[in-house]
Amino acid sequence: MADNLDLLIVGAGPAGLGAAVAAKSCGLDVAVVDEYASVGGQIFRNIQLPCIEKVLDERTLGIGRKLVEDFEKSGVKFYPNTSVWGMENTTVFCKSPDEVKKVSASKVVYATGGYERPVPFKGWTLPGVYTAGAAEMLFRSAGELPSGKEPVVLCGNGPLLLALAVHLIENNVPVLAWLDTGKFGNKISASLHMGRVFQDMPYFRHGMHLAMEILKAKIPFVLGVESVEAVGDECVEKVVYVKNGKRHELAAKTLIRHEGIIPRIQIPGALDMELAWDSLQRYWYPKTDKFGRTSLNNVYVAGDNAFVHGGESAIWKGYVCGYAAAEDLGVVASSEIKEKSLEYQQKMELLCKARDYLRYVFAPNPAVFNIPDDTIVCRCECVTAGEIRKAVREGFTDPREVKIATRSGMGPCQGRSCGTALAEIIAQTTGMNVEKVGILKSRQPFVPVTLADYCALHA
Ligand SMILES: Cc1cc2nc3c(=O)[nH]c(=O)nc-3n(C[C@H](O)[C@H](O)[C@H](O)COP(=O)(O)OP(=O)(O)OC[C@H]3O[C@@H](n4cnc5c(N)ncnc54)[C@H](O)[C@@H]3O)c2cc1C
Repeated sequence: MADNLDLLIVGAGPAGLGAAVAAKSCGLDVAVVDEYASVGGQIFRNIQLPCIEKVLDERTLGIGRKLVEDFEKSGVKFYPNTSVWGMENTTVFCKSPDEVKKVSASKVVYATGGYERPVPFKGWTLPGVYTAGAAEMLFRSAGELPSGKEPVVLCGNGPLLLALAVHLIENNVPVLAWLDTGKFGNKISASLHMGRVFQDMPYFRHGMHLAMEILKAKIPFVLGVESVEAVGDECVEKVVYVKNGKRHELAAKTLIRHEGIIPRIQIPGALDMELAWDSLQRYWYPKTDKFGRTSLNNVYVAGDNAFVHGGESAIWKGYVCGYAAAEDLGVVASSEIKEKSLEYQQKMELLCKARDYLRYVFAPNPAVFNIPDDTIVCRCECVTAGEIRKAVREGFTDPREVKIATRSGMGPCQGRSCGTALAEIIAQTTGMNVEKVGILKSRQPFVPVTLADYCALHA
């Protein structure tokens, strides 16, 4: 892989590709790495395949295909199957099947996207439990649905459930129930912000189309679900939920849960980048200016990694970030960059405003973190909610202390799966505000590397 680049971009999703195209157009020497085999990120991966036409609306498909085409024409070098597992300033440590390597660049953009908010619940480790994102990815990449044609139960409170429900309906998969875990009050108060969606009419129409399909299918919609459990010995045999204190059972082998998307802040956190807290969506995100400049010199973030606004705005966030890197390198005059960025900045601001409605309507319900004591929270180290609560009662109230006391967050995923729940449990147990509890920071390496590889880079 080339070294001493002007700009290294981590993540080949909409934001990373947008940043690459913009920076390259300014004459920068740019490379993009991604741990996946192809470009496009979560929304535009495999965008050239005909089966994607069934899952993305026409506008999004057109924008995605154009972006990937522009990237391919740009001549920016792409390194697939390459995970970033550590860094020192703007030197980044990468691992691919063939090599581990240090890559130095004058500027680095982290466009590592978001991921589904992990919410542990009883039985969540059983085969047959999926997140909506995982189920949707299976459908997008292989045309398969997790249950085949067997009935499923949907559960949660987040935007991905809508699209998935429609794909299930279109493929004649019976949906036994949609168990809504959101706060009813949030749905009502969100209507005050509904006007924002009208700023993007195609998006509004797409949302209405999904809602109408779901209504027509007459899926039983259960509001105010207090808890859910997947029950079975070797795999899910039934789904049990509680509403108004009463238990209900559904015979289903597949439970699909989704509780929204949060920024992937493991790298920003580990770099001690300044973060901010969104009290509505209950997540941390890197503090940036409008161009993705962070509190760290020469380090930028773009896309859902910076704040979750969806696929299209991630592209434009990427564009303005790529231009900002060119400006900061002194390659292009500020006035020219201002002019180049204006169109993308305006598009980005409009889309962010329109998507802001989702922030309200899908505001997570903190009660989803009322996790029973015997439920595993840290899947890597098999630590239960009860063990975490016990450590907190013994006086460990900082996420890092709880990690040391219980090993929660010490496994290969470095707290990516359990960090959010850990902070929420500390907040519940101590009565502290979850923002005050803080964040369980990941430590390098972010993905497992052998000692030999590690030593080779530090020799
Ligand atoms: C199943 C699903 C369906 C969706 N459907 C829609 C939709 O219909 N409309 C919409 O607007 N939005 C949708 N979204 C959201 C949309 O995918 C995101 O908003 C968008 O992809 C964000 O773009 P991004 O570039 O910020 O991040 P991503 O697309 O997530 O790209 C980030 C990239 O970074 C890479 N990466 C992360 N960490 C590392 C690392 N350490 N080393 C190397 N590479 C790394 C990842 O492999 C990934 O390719 C969907 C999301 C999912 C999961």
